[in-house]
Amino acid sequence: MNLKSDVLVLNSNFLPLNVTKVRRSMMLIINGKAELIEPKEEIIHTSTDSFAMPSIIRLFAYIKPFNRTIKMTRSELFTRDEQRCQYCGVVTKDLTLDHVLPRSRGGLYIWENIVSACIKCNHKKAGRTPKEASMRLLTKPSTPPHDPYYPFYRFLDNNKEWIQWVPAKRVR
Ligand SMILES: [Zn+2]
Repeated sequence: MNLKSDVLVLNSNFLPLNVTKVRRSMMLIINGKAELIEPKEEIIHTSTDSFAMPSIIRLFAYIKPFNRTIKMTRSELFTRDEQRCQYCGVVTKDLTLDHVLPRSRGGLYIWENIVSACIKCNHKKAGRTPKEASMRLLTKPSTPPHDPYYPFYRFLDNNKEWIQWVPAKRVR
């Protein structure tokens, strides 16, 4: 069993609110603050008892969701680009970040100028613009969408049972 697994927390109105860990979610249930909506497949066995490990819980009290601005980090950039090299389209864990307009030409480290690139493409493009390198970007880089469910998308691959609770991801 893994008490550090992710648990989806639904607001009292059943909309996704945040993601917590098993331990915290169990405390919320034990303290009467939340109910179990869906268990994980694993069962927790203690010396005297066994119980289902939560995968999705729902809070009884409504929490006002706060507006998230997503901080620009490597992993957020890779998430925005769906782990995909924005030049050749390969999906890989070995991604690098590429300045579309090279730093040496004054290209800034901003959402609109940074894309995920595989090592091969980054090496090939080097200090050139995409046009100079005859490389085409798959998508125009931009700030992540103002979508309140965006932060949950990255969890869906490992938590298939959450999909029905997270409003559909828009296909780009
Ligand atoms: Zn590539």
